[in-house]
Amino acid sequence: MALCLKQVFAKDKTFRPRKRFEPGTQRFELYKKAQASLKSGLDLRSVVRLPPGENIDDWIAVHVVDFFNRINLIYGTMAERCSETSCPVMAGGPRYEYRWQDERRYRRPAKLSAPHYMALLMDWIEGLINDEDVFPTRVGVPFPKNFQQVCTKILTRLFRVFVHVYIHHFDSILSMGAEAHVNTCYKHFYYFIREFSLVDQRELEPLREMTERICH
Ligand SMILES: [Zn+2]
Repeated sequence: MALCLKQVFAKDKTFRPRKRFEPGTQRFELYKKAQASLKSGLDLRSVVRLPPGENIDDWIAVHVVDFFNRINLIYGTMAERCSETSCPVMAGGPRYEYRWQDERRYRRPAKLSAPHYMALLMDWIEGLINDEDVFPTRVGVPFPKNFQQVCTKILTRLFRVFVHVYIHHFDSILSMGAEAHVNTCYKHFYYFIREFSLVDQRELEPLREMTERICH
């Protein structure tokens, strides 16, 4: 499966280089710690908990970047099957439709195709996590006061990628043999946002039944 994901990823035009933490920095150490506990086979519900003595904003920053990298990769593998024709509207089934809004071109919520919405979404997140004023990497530089608000918005929008992919492209997930991989990423993401109450319950509604089934 890893090979399959890699092959599709390499061809994918929506590819974005992974955001990495600089070795030697505190956040890199925290990232390594989070990765190690993830690989240790511990329950995903417990790996998301803030380790004693760690700063919550650092912990959230590390996870937001990691989820961005992983969800971006998952969408990248589906991207060829998510087109203007197959998905003319960014939606999660017939009941949920998402409109894009930003501080640039789309100041009013705009109805866009799923691939267009995804491209803007990934660019927007990439811009934020590379912005030193929002995600400072230098030692001693504090996070901005609205840091958790920004992360809530990022995670809320990343959740919509799961909604779209699960509801509209589940057959692609299955045909690529990626179901277990996507589910693991989803569960980790879901336990994380729940642990810190980072995404509004109403946003989670489109996947509620599935979530109840796979995240007991
Ligand atoms: Zn689609």
